[in-house]
Amino acid sequence: MPDSPHRVRRVLATAAAPGRFGAVLDRIGTEVAALGERGRPADYIPLLAGADPRRFGMAVAEPDGTVYGVGDWREPFSTQSITKVFALALVLALEGAEIWRRVGREPSGNPFNSLVQLEYENGVPRNPFINAGALVVTDRLQTLTGHAAGRVRDLLREESGNSDVDFVPEVAASEATHGDRNAALAHFMASYGNITNPVPHLLAAYFSQCSIAASCADLALAAGFLARRGVRANGSVLLTRSQTKQVNAVMLTCGTYDAAGEFAHRVGLPGKSGVGGGIVAVVPGVCTLCVWSPGLDRHGNSVAGVWALDRFTTLTGLSVF
Ligand code: GLU
Repeated sequence: MPDSPHRVRRVLATAAAPGRFGAVLDRIGTEVAALGERGRPADYIPLLAGADPRRFGMAVAEPDGTVYGVGDWREPFSTQSITKVFALALVLALEGAEIWRRVGREPSGNPFNSLVQLEYENGVPRNPFINAGALVVTDRLQTLTGHAAGRVRDLLREESGNSDVDFVPEVAASEATHGDRNAALAHFMASYGNITNPVPHLLAAYFSQCSIAASCADLALAAGFLARRGVRANGSVLLTRSQTKQVNAVMLTCGTYDAAGEFAHRVGLPGKSGVGGGIVAVVPGVCTLCVWSPGLDRHGNSVAGVWALDRFTTLTGLSVF
């Protein structure tokens, strides 16, 4: 694909958000205020537990880098599992299909931190977006680059144009103090030879990666390559068309914990959620979206976030189906 100059414009939303979907965003921003049940913030990472479920932000980034939003769309939040998309993209960019020898691409039907399935399947996780699979991807990125978390942060910075995107060491530490289950997953896979870095180093990289704080605007921009068939903000190629399709497909089938079927049914877009309350979604060729609201449903997806994406695709008629 030829290089194409690309500009990242940060357009501030006022009463009426600008851009192709500005009116839709404004309507969703107004409607969400009336939403009753908002779920509860994740409490297994103590530093996330105090987040206010009434917070809500939503941003749209168009393929040329125009970005706008409503509500708290410029407020940094804890990206958590959303970073798994970027880690996977980096590994695919660096070594192509190799990673699929070590991790599958089927929905798991189990909670994101489940150990049970791993034993049945000999230490090969079902997909790269459950924790076990993400640990394998980060392990591989660590081996390939020597600084997995740093590479994920740098990709987010470069694609969003925001050098303030960074780790939050307190969040990483908070997760580490309650990280026994992730440690168990990593040790278990190491026993099958599917983790090659020392487990403590891997966990430190993984917790740092998950601790990155970024806003809806940052993440909608950073995921732009998924709507541009793999082309980065500077016009260079990160992923091939085929790899981009693969990442979007795994997001659609596995990106929202064991509620991916319900998400596809309601929203109809590839999406990846995190327990910080963010969700990134892709309308290939059209735009990328990011919503944030910290109250989660029982699967770990943002209640207001899924609701807002559902409204977006209903009001615009856009989906991959
Ligand atoms: N750092 C979190 C964990 O490993 C990420 C969970 C998530 O957002 O799904 O438990």
